[in-house]
Amino acid sequence: MPIVNRLADMSDEITAWRRDFHENPEILYETVRTGQKVAELLESFGLDEVTPGIGKTGVVGVIKGRNGGAGRTIGLRADMDALPIEEATGKPYASKIPGKMHACGHDGHTAMLLGAAKYLAETRNFDGTVVVIFQPAEEGGAGAKAMIDDGLMTRWPIDEVYGMHNFPGLPVGEFAIRKGAIMAATDEFRITITGRGGHAAKPHETIDPVVIGSQVVSALQTIASRNADPLKSVVVSVTTFNAGNAFNVIPQEAVLRGTVRSLDPEIRDMAEKRLKAIATTITESFGAKADVFFRRGYPVTANHDDQTDFAAGIAEEIAGKGKVITDIAPMMGGEDFSYMLEERPGAFIFAGNGDSAGLHHPEYDFNDDLIPVGCSYWVRLVETALPTAA
Ligand SMILES: [Zn+2]
Ligand SMILES: [Zn+2]
Repeated sequence: MPIVNRLADMSDEITAWRRDFHENPEILYETVRTGQKVAELLESFGLDEVTPGIGKTGVVGVIKGRNGGAGRTIGLRADMDALPIEEATGKPYASKIPGKMHACGHDGHTAMLLGAAKYLAETRNFDGTVVVIFQPAEEGGAGAKAMIDDGLMTRWPIDEVYGMHNFPGLPVGEFAIRKGAIMAATDEFRITITGRGGHAAKPHETIDPVVIGSQVVSALQTIASRNADPLKSVVVSVTTFNAGNAFNVIPQEAVLRGTVRSLDPEIRDMAEKRLKAIATTITESFGAKADVFFRRGYPVTANHDDQTDFAAGIAEEIAGKGKVITDIAPMMGGEDFSYMLEERPGAFIFAGNGDSAGLHHPEYDFNDDLIPVGCSYWVRLVETALPTAA
């Protein structure tokens, strides 16, 4: 049973929504136009409830099953935001807004969930309630958390929650998932080293933050190589090192910035602790001062076991045997669906986007062939999780 026929018939309409979102990208919480269109379409499908303004610009829609909605409630989530990237696809429906584009396929995620909502509102071939969640600000703004803080999980008593992301490099029609950590925690740091500036020819009268910063960068490499269990993953990347602006002056200050990625709460705690200790003690040993700013970003996206098995089973129904990878290696990128999985059991699945440019690349484009596949996954998931009594 691959694609649901009715959804294949709706593909052109869903593709048109997708390309309209693509032409009009909005970043972070700016998703006003997108959210408005989502809300209008949901109203036109005859949903039982449409609530905009959750998590600033998020939209929540409710579809009750044949039994009036009693019983379990399943949440399905899509993200709506684009990225601050100049598009280079040359497609006829390329971004009309300079410097912004849908380079992560959230235009496709939004369109697919709309397609599923239309089908589910039309057929209602389930008992229970479906909550469709359209969130802003996945790309660094924690829109999922903003929606949770606005009562997403309690105003609509969601029992389980599911998410999907397109996956370049995996053929269209195939899926990939894993139990446990599937995406990383993403933390950010900034180390400001204050020494004593002076003449480059008189280093002995200075405390050189460039030399100290270099030692700190080297020593930070030992978090992954010497502190972490070799069988567990952690990435510590120093991505900017700013100091000085003249060849003959030792600067007063050096600022290092970077990111820590991890898949395990203990490793995450360890990396934060070691980073602070290394930066502070090395700097102090040279007589300079370190200010360490460490901000925790998205938590680990951790799939729940039972819901992962369930999601993989639905994916296999759609894709066919052997077309679902159930033990894909975790990605070191982050995803704010993690906040929803901290609140409720659920699973996050990857759906093949074919041979496209990578996510966040200026030539990336969501593959419209994925639309009937992704929509079919959503509706079969609902119809299987919430079977009708009759
Ligand atoms: Zn992204
Ligand atoms: Zn994304």
